Amino acid sequence: MSESSYIPSLADLHALKPLQQPTYPDTAAVEQVVAKLRRLPPLVFAGECDELRAKMASVAAGEAFLLQGGDCAETFDGVTADNISGKLRVLLSMAVVLTYAAQVPIVKVGRLAGQYTKPRSSDTETRDGVTLPAYRGDAVNGFAFTPQARAHDPQRLLDVYNASAATLNLSRAFLTGGFAHLRSVHSWNADFVKNSAAGQRYEHLASEIERALAFMVACGIDDDVFRTVDFYASHEALSLEYEQALTRIDSRTRLPYDVSGHFLWIGERTRQLDGAHVELLRHVRNPLGVKLGPTTTADTALQLADRLDPDHEPGRITFITRMGAGRVRDVLPDVVKKVTDSGRKVAWVCDPMHGNTFEAANGYKTRAFTDVIDEVNGFFDVHDELGTWPGGVHVELTGGDVTECVGGGDDLVEADLVNRYETLCDPRLNRNQSLELAFMVAERLTD
Ligand code: PEP
Ligand code: MN
Repeated sequence: MSESSYIPSLADLHALKPLQQPTYPDTAAVEQVVAKLRRLPPLVFAGECDELRAKMASVAAGEAFLLQGGDCAETFDGVTADNISGKLRVLLSMAVVLTYAAQVPIVKVGRLAGQYTKPRSSDTETRDGVTLPAYRGDAVNGFAFTPQARAHDPQRLLDVYNASAATLNLSRAFLTGGFAHLRSVHSWNADFVKNSAAGQRYEHLASEIERALAFMVACGIDDDVFRTVDFYASHEALSLEYEQALTRIDSRTRLPYDVSGHFLWIGERTRQLDGAHVELLRHVRNPLGVKLGPTTTADTALQLADRLDPDHEPGRITFITRMGAGRVRDVLPDVVKKVTDSGRKVAWVCDPMHGNTFEAANGYKTRAFTDVIDEVNGFFDVHDELGTWPGGVHVELTGGDVTECVGGGDDLVEADLVNRYETLCDPRLNRNQSLELAFMVAERLTD
């Protein structure tokens, strides 16, 4: 990371022929939107990004564990109090399971307040002989299968800013206003299905925590330190217009930060070494993630680390591996070993979702909970074998009782998918499946 205030211009970035970008018909309209975005205040503060980078350095050093989760694709319609607090509750519940059962500090990062742009495998979608542009996330176009909705509209970037601001505002209020106090540990699970095995296990653990807190208070220890939690926002930095317009020089350090979110990641499809996304992000100071799929070689990982983090700065790079349950044990060892042997200390995080997607017989895109668990186990096995630290999990989840992934304690089968399949993109773990995953990860962290 060179200590420079240089920010690549949008023209420079477009000259690199970025992948997965919208095709806006009216360039004057795009320029107007970008000019408006440039004047809007930061969504996060540079100092908070530095704080998270320091926490990610603890993850890389084997002293903390990252829990990162949220929707595959946020939607403008999804910006409601219920929906946002539901996601925060699941994340807080998972974090408390991990903290209490594994006694490891948990770094909590939402996939929210900016996760509105999706890479797609095809530019178009065909239904009943009609072909339209593919849905690329609410940042780009609408989900409805009509030519009007699917047109790429730059005004949506301003809606992304507003939706992200509203989401962050509510999250900050919830998390600092008492909702996150450990005393509320029972209430986060209040309307969960308590007769599920994971829900009951959680209730038991929550009661133990309450007793421990009551003991401390009786001893005269102030429990105010448990009033709030640190929580950060993350998303895939995919829209160059949005991310570049929100890249600002921090008045304190005189260095560039992408103030659209605390932590930004580069997706599997846009991490070309000489590509525009790497070029923009290598100049910002935020902690960065890079997704690494099953075809990744150790050389590619090392080259990405050299490009994005030439100074080996602690906490700068997180490799989010998403190899698939069937590949993780074959592909991951060489990558981890060579990166570690090079002297680099990066955070290794497992995304057990994106390598395990398949189409059910009834046409729904789904994931099997057993595959998710299998990939997490494979990730832990590989790190155990190499003596490296399995630094975290990155999952797609929601606070709702959705039926998008099959399996788990509720034994969802393919025929159940039709009931509450609400995602506009990839299938998410529901709250019970998320809690089950947290218990399983806690067991791996303590064994
Ligand atoms: C995602 O995280 O939703 C995603 C598209 O992931 P990947 O880049 O790993 O495919
Ligand atoms: Mn996804």
